[in-house]
Amino acid sequence: MIPGMDLETPEEYYARVAAATDAEGRLTVAVEEMPGWDIYPYEVDSLRIKPLRPLDDAEPPRRGEVPEECWCTDPDAQPPVGGVAWRNERWRLALASESKVPVSLFLEPLVHCDLATVPDGLAGEMGRLVVAIAAAVEELPSVGRTQLYRFGDGGAHLHLFFLGRPRRVLQFRGSPLLDWEENLPALPVEVHRANAAYVGRRLVEAFGGEGPDWF
Ligand SMILES: [Zn+2]
Repeated sequence: MIPGMDLETPEEYYARVAAATDAEGRLTVAVEEMPGWDIYPYEVDSLRIKPLRPLDDAEPPRRGEVPEECWCTDPDAQPPVGGVAWRNERWRLALASESKVPVSLFLEPLVHCDLATVPDGLAGEMGRLVVAIAAAVEELPSVGRTQLYRFGDGGAHLHLFFLGRPRRVLQFRGSPLLDWEENLPALPVEVHRANAAYVGRRLVEAFGGEGPDWF
């Protein structure tokens, strides 16, 4: 923190949001914003926002918050359920255990850090990997665009999600993809692995390392 700057507190932020709720503590559905877009999966007339909960006392600990208890203490002992499409000595690109879009991958460093604490020596490589993964995903015939996410609210160890937005399914564009995705049928494992293997092999071409671990 930079000392001496008068920045808004959590209480001040929350109070302003709470002041916008109705007698039941509910916000109004913003029909002029995303809920009203034609790419939003739910019909506005059926929507009601859950009552706003009280401000929590603190941020809860996440999985792997204590480095000694994180999977990265022994990466090979806790491999990703879906498999690894590519890895080198510092990173691995894993498959989500189940995908509903053409490809769902997550990139994670093998050393313990979060997005705000990536060591200088890894940050540049992360940038090049993000570019290369995005490009490879967008080469897949069934993908129209790469979507990139980092939430970080569940796990303390950095993981960047790459989702392939289905090509020509224009209703799935933009951030509503995550809501659509929850409701889609699962992709067959062999289709997911074939798409992920393509991305992994592209990374081997560009960076060396090891390709898919399921062959
Ligand atoms: Zn870790």
